[in-house]
Amino acid sequence: MTPEFRAIFFNAGGLQIECVCGRTNFGERGRWDWDEGEYERLEALAEEKPDQYVYHVDADGVRAGEGLTGGPVVEDCPCGEAERIETFWWDRAATITSYLKARAKREAEAVAAQYLGGSSALEALQDLAKLKDEAERRSRDAHQRLIGEPLTPR
Ligand SMILES: [Zn+2]
Repeated sequence: MTPEFRAIFFNAGGLQIECVCGRTNFGERGRWDWDEGEYERLEALAEEKPDQYVYHVDADGVRAGEGLTGGPVVEDCPCGEAERIETFWWDRAATITSYLKARAKREAEAVAAQYLGGSSALEALQDLAKLKDEAERRSRDAHQRLIGEPLTPR
């Protein structure tokens, strides 16, 4: 897995996250506010079922990105789903790039047409600000879906 994929794909984090493969991944003791007995319970489960409970040594905790089915894909989970997603993206980079360019061009043209069609520059900027807000809202919603709690700044 490349550093670029790690930096871009894993955009959610938490105390413990169940990966799409079913494994419970959890972070280091002491770096998080665990509920009473919660860490000990996970530690015991990891010892009993190491294939299902995965301990991560990571200062940033457990991170995840959204998989192809919408569920969380945990960074460094032994299932290897994140590696499969990166390979999928990279193998199709030319196709994905063409799509992104075509769609961004169409959306930019729609904003420009509105501007040239009589809207004021202020209205055009407001539309762009709405697009940005919408992108941020989608990112927050994805975090809420994956982690089950609101996105909080680090
Ligand atoms: Zn997994």
